[in-house]
Amino acid sequence: MDTKKISEMDRASVLHPFTHLHDFATGKAGDPTIVESGKGIRIRDAEGREYIDGFAGLYCVNVGYGREEVAEAISRQAYKLAYYHSYAAHTTEELAKLSDRLVKMSPGKMSKVFYGLSGSDANETQAKLVWYYNNLRGLPKKKKIIARDRGYHGCSVVSGSMTGMSFYHDFMDLPISGILRTGVPHHYWGAEQGESELQFSARRAQELEELILREGPDTVGAFIAEPVLGTGGITPPPEGYWVAIQPVLEKYDVLLIADEVITGFGRTGAMFGCEKYGIKPDLITVAKGLTSAYAPLSACIVGEKVYGVMEAGAQKVGAFSHGYTYSGHPIGVAAANAVLDIVERENIPGNAQLVGQYFQDTLRAAFSDLPIVGEVRGVGLMAAVEFVVDPATKQRFDPAAKVGARVSKAARDRGLIARAMPHGDILGFAPPLTVTREEVDQIVQIAQDAVKQVSGEITKEAVHA
Ligand code: PLP
Repeated sequence: MDTKKISEMDRASVLHPFTHLHDFATGKAGDPTIVESGKGIRIRDAEGREYIDGFAGLYCVNVGYGREEVAEAISRQAYKLAYYHSYAAHTTEELAKLSDRLVKMSPGKMSKVFYGLSGSDANETQAKLVWYYNNLRGLPKKKKIIARDRGYHGCSVVSGSMTGMSFYHDFMDLPISGILRTGVPHHYWGAEQGESELQFSARRAQELEELILREGPDTVGAFIAEPVLGTGGITPPPEGYWVAIQPVLEKYDVLLIADEVITGFGRTGAMFGCEKYGIKPDLITVAKGLTSAYAPLSACIVGEKVYGVMEAGAQKVGAFSHGYTYSGHPIGVAAANAVLDIVERENIPGNAQLVGQYFQDTLRAAFSDLPIVGEVRGVGLMAAVEFVVDPATKQRFDPAAKVGARVSKAARDRGLIARAMPHGDILGFAPPLTVTREEVDQIVQIAQDAVKQVSGEITKEAVHA
């Protein structure tokens, strides 16, 4: 089919996520990008243009595009048995294999794995597990879930409520009640004059404790957080953050849900973000990197503490009444096993650590002295450059100037996809974890040229808040 026809059909019939509907419908936002193929860290569109995908899709194609062994594993499974459910103790070889593997490789004392199809639905399940656990313990009031400002946990009803950015809530009747909010651990924006990272982390932990006490510890069930804040601005935790937070949760019997949807399977340079920061989770959410997006699959990895209560509770309440038609879908789990074979064989976290360090160093060297760069931050193969009018005063740009989006567009025009993060003027990077040093050099060079171009333009326009 010719590309014009595809565009017309698309515009007439697809409701695209996170798209300005009017600008798209009228053509003001241009034509849809028809993505046709991918290999390694690159994708190609229908016009034959090639892009370096500096964001691995949506930080998910961790092992890179075009892995034939994953496609073959999916195909083998589809021929053998495309579907059977996992209700009432039905299973497949791939499902049992993957679950055994995840329990063994996950940080903390994990016991069982429940499957969904997206990070959003997995976090929805996590909330239900928290409620179920405390109901079974005879603590029916202990249900509130604390999430952080600028945290991202998805956009279904409960997960969207846990997400801490207002534009995900507006006009959607979110957040629901029972979701509490605590401060984002971003030292650059949140620290007081002269406050060290350690002091700032201690303050955030104190605020968390005050919130729990204010609400009543008997009403707070869980705290959900990403080991490294992702969509809210790709922000690694300040020094001492997790060390300060965890004792507060333990003191008040509050479960810790580690949302490893981005950080799981190598992105930070460790297999899990929890390992990197010494986090001891009760529940872990994974998705994205679990299959490197070759098939939709997410999982809630349930710790012994929670599962023990659930199993004992069955004597009282009967079957665990939660699940999806596609929980443990054979094609998804076959894809995950093939991807995890690659992750282990090629030591993908090791590459993210080694090339990631090079990436972080190169980015800082390239950007730190540019006039509109406020902060360069990141860990492993996730990084962000945040733009401000003047680094000395940290004055923000007028949001209407869309500086982040302009830099992202300038990079794209040069053949690099780097994401304009939805919160603030931030350019985000999260390339496939197979990226090489040479490719890092290309990414950073293009991004630097893009920033210089936009920086030059806005100096003339003099845009500020
Ligand atoms: N949790 C985190 C940390 C995420 O980054 C995302 C998506 O970006 C989600 C949950 C939601 O995942 P999905 O888009 O698959 O529903």
